[in-house]
Amino acid sequence: MILPETLPAQTTPPLDLELIRKYSIPGPRYTSYPPATKFTTDLAPLRLEEAIADDNRPGAAGGEPGRTSPLSLYFHLPFCETRCWFCGCNTVITKRREAAGEYLDDLARELRLTTSRLDRHRPVTQIHLGGGTPTFFPPRELQWLGELIKAHFPVAPDCEFGVEIDPRRLTEEHVLALRDIGARRASLGVQDTNPRVQLAIHRFQPHTRNEEAFKWLRAAGFTSINVDLIYGLPLQTPESFGATIDEVLALGPDRLSVFSYAHVPWIKPAQRIFDDREQLPGAGEKLAMFAIAHEKLSAAGYLDIGLDHFAKPQDELAVALREGTLHRNFQGYSTRGGASLYSFGISSISSTADTYRQNARTLPEWRAALDAGRLPFDRGLRLTTEDQRRRTIIMRLMCDRRLDFAALSTALGLDFTATYSAEIASLTDLVDDGLVRRTSAGIEVTRAGVPLLRVIAMRFDPTVTGAPLQHSRTI
Ligand code: SF4
Repeated sequence: MILPETLPAQTTPPLDLELIRKYSIPGPRYTSYPPATKFTTDLAPLRLEEAIADDNRPGAAGGEPGRTSPLSLYFHLPFCETRCWFCGCNTVITKRREAAGEYLDDLARELRLTTSRLDRHRPVTQIHLGGGTPTFFPPRELQWLGELIKAHFPVAPDCEFGVEIDPRRLTEEHVLALRDIGARRASLGVQDTNPRVQLAIHRFQPHTRNEEAFKWLRAAGFTSINVDLIYGLPLQTPESFGATIDEVLALGPDRLSVFSYAHVPWIKPAQRIFDDREQLPGAGEKLAMFAIAHEKLSAAGYLDIGLDHFAKPQDELAVALREGTLHRNFQGYSTRGGASLYSFGISSISSTADTYRQNARTLPEWRAALDAGRLPFDRGLRLTTEDQRRRTIIMRLMCDRRLDFAALSTALGLDFTATYSAEIASLTDLVDDGLVRRTSAGIEVTRAGVPLLRVIAMRFDPTVTGAPLQHSRTI
């Protein structure tokens, strides 16, 4: 089924739902390569602490030659007052507000341990507060977190500072505190505006709270507001989800992330409640919701950035896509590359040029490591040269939507077409179906292929074979 061509010329063409149905299989979201499912707990051979010292060397993380790379910081603030039953995040459910202050004490210890190993002159060009619910933290605790960051790092004047916000737990004081510590980007968890769906997912959120959040954020000078939506939730229908999109578009977000609900009850037991109630929409309905979202956002002038992200044409993400400067990291698409990622708090993931390390996933384990004066990671990976090559190929596909074989041969120091001849040959069915085009320079993802970007990237990923259930479906 092909949807009617009603979209403005500069936006995405109608979706070919038959092709999406044909190719939509479980796969990684490629916020990293190799994906976090490949991290190991056998840490001794990885020498991850040494990797931090190595990372202080000029040019280590792919930054400018002769200069130490800048830093990107992530803080995982895991607390939520109640559990949304669909949620796949690493959260701690509590109503104890004192938990925020206690956690900040421990974050301060982790900051001291980490920065004692870092070149203190490296500028911070990106900060992200994620969760959980960062706005579970009272405004004065958010101010304190800002002071901690400034005390430990030189923050660049043009630092891109974003925060995830739950409109249900937001006051104007939160917004002012976030603005005062430098945040200018906000990502609002909305998911669905229909009260019946909200009841079914255990997340009651009157739309007036979303409107209020937008009003406060705009008044405080936030320059970019993203809204997260999820399709495939219990009791959703294509019509109800279409109405959610209309309501959200009326708020004028700069970006939208429209995620496919990942039903993985064997990993997230809270999701089992949906199986018991038999309220989940079927695959066909879910596909129709994706199509409606795509059609409405395209008609409203948003560009499909890839991997569920849409942005207004003037938004930095859309500009970076046009200019070929888009990057991808653990927070998704980004306009800032060449930085090493240092993350703090439970379950957060840090990366240098050739390592990943992930912190302990529970508060007691994380605190025990800090008590012992150890950096609190308990799993990780050291990338082989081949891993790094594959990462370059996959990230170029995800961000540029094309592979230039000659440029890759130079960048990777090998004959790309000879080395990856099997992978290139494996694209034939995608080429025949019009999702990929062969060009004189290499290959290009067609506009029809953009919704299936990660399926195309998987052809260059030897790690996905035989492990599909560790990942959600691509649509
Ligand atoms: S508020 Fe966000 S992080 Fe917390 S349970 Fe709900 S979806 Fe998950």
